[in-house]
Amino acid sequence: MNEAPQPAQPSFFKSLYLWFVPSNDQELPDENDERIDWYRAIPFIGMHLGCFLVFFAGWSWLAVSVAAFLYALRVFTLTGFYHRYFSHRSFKTWRIVQFIFAVIGCSSVQRGPLWWAAHHRHHHVHSDDPEDLHSPREKGILYSHFGWFLSPKALKTNYKIIPDFAKYPELRFLDRWDLLVPIALALALFGFGELVAYGAPEWGADGFQLLVWGFFLSTIAVYHVTYLVNSATHLIGTRRYETKDDSRNSLIIALLTFGEGWHNNHHYYPNSTRQGFYWWEIDITYYILLFMQLLGLVWNIKEVPDRIREPKPKVAADPAPVPPEAKPAAVLPT
Ligand SMILES: [Zn+2]
Ligand SMILES: [Zn+2]
Repeated sequence: MNEAPQPAQPSFFKSLYLWFVPSNDQELPDENDERIDWYRAIPFIGMHLGCFLVFFAGWSWLAVSVAAFLYALRVFTLTGFYHRYFSHRSFKTWRIVQFIFAVIGCSSVQRGPLWWAAHHRHHHVHSDDPEDLHSPREKGILYSHFGWFLSPKALKTNYKIIPDFAKYPELRFLDRWDLLVPIALALALFGFGELVAYGAPEWGADGFQLLVWGFFLSTIAVYHVTYLVNSATHLIGTRRYETKDDSRNSLIIALLTFGEGWHNNHHYYPNSTRQGFYWWEIDITYYILLFMQLLGLVWNIKEVPDRIREPKPKVAADPAPVPPEAKPAAVLPT
């Protein structure tokens, strides 16, 4: 039924509607269509163009600080909660904390927590095989960076893959109406900026400026840093462990993403909350979660067992000859 040779793509208005209400009950011409739906990409492109408004909005220390704060808050939320909590259940938390971070995650305009985590679980099952939606090996760098989620194939949330969280009605609501959150954030930033312009004009900020810095620039930075985990961490860096995929460890990406750059570690042992397996592998999200654990906000943070971290699966240049039938060929680090 969904195997038409040249499937039609959704119409213009349907595509725009899908951007705002991308729910599972929508009819699509072909649910397995992996091509980018360019109509639906229009708001996504618009988000990028919105950054150029900075030339009209100017800057202030307040605007830069708000953008940096929202960047840090949302990158932490995506890595700590969308990824390590919703996708991998690597620690536990209260239902209210779960909800609060689900809301903050939605403000990143990367869909709701159920959609995000369901697709990520699918990635771990199929990493770098032909079914993987964002494999650079299979689909190319740009498609794995930001093409895949603009395709009809990635539109819906497979609740079967995430029943443990889909049972919460508040999360299902957020998954359907995730766009309410960024709209509220944009309005709040504008309102706050106008208040500042009125009450403290010497700060040099106003609503338009905070909107541009806090919403457009900050969100686009969060976008591309997140996307690096789908594209660059399967291309750039070193491989400590032999995994079936091309995942790699990269300090630079780990710093930008608050710890997600230790992606080869993560694919090797995804159960661990901690992704930097050694003290020198900086993992800011893990440190923040430890602090939250001290406060009683989260618990049961999972570490890497020594037997997992230490021994065998050294890849790299091993001078000892490998017996022919021992393990598949190792991938060399770049
Ligand atoms: Zn993962
Ligand atoms: Zn991966």
